[in-house]
Amino acid sequence: MKRLLIFISAALVLSLSTQISKAQNKHEASVNVSEGIFPKGTKGPAQFFTGNAYNTGLVGMDSTYTTLVGNVYFEAGARSNWHSHPAGQILIITAGVGYHQIEGEPIQVMRKGDVVKCPPNAKHWHGASHDTGLQQMYIIPNIEKGVVEWMEAVTDEQYDQANQ
Ligand code: MN
Repeated sequence: MKRLLIFISAALVLSLSTQISKAQNKHEASVNVSEGIFPKGTKGPAQFFTGNAYNTGLVGMDSTYTTLVGNVYFEAGARSNWHSHPAGQILIITAGVGYHQIEGEPIQVMRKGDVVKCPPNAKHWHGASHDTGLQQMYIIPNIEKGVVEWMEAVTDEQYDQANQ
């Protein structure tokens, strides 16, 4: 009887742990990139973005920190125009998959946990991948030098080079 009880308990524990790990896998698979850790924010203007991109400010412009921090959620296929930052920019990816390209260089794939630095005045763009959205925090230091210089849109031909 005692052996039977031990067997039953062991079987229960095994089946429970299998269920928990299945539930965790299911949770990971179903994580929606659109559910970021910050509010979704407001839609970026078509003048500067292709597709749907949403910006939330986290640290505003001030003379104490002189650092602009925020989060952008790019829906799949969305990206910024070409642009530059007079003092550079740091991107921290918190979810999804995206692209970053400095002019003249190959497109770099960005994933959750990546930290990407873009040097001062380097012409570049960033956005989501073709199939998966992107949650990216941006940090723009030394804003007394300026924040952003906007340029032309990234064409489909330029964007599609990520798939080649
Ligand atoms: Mn940028």
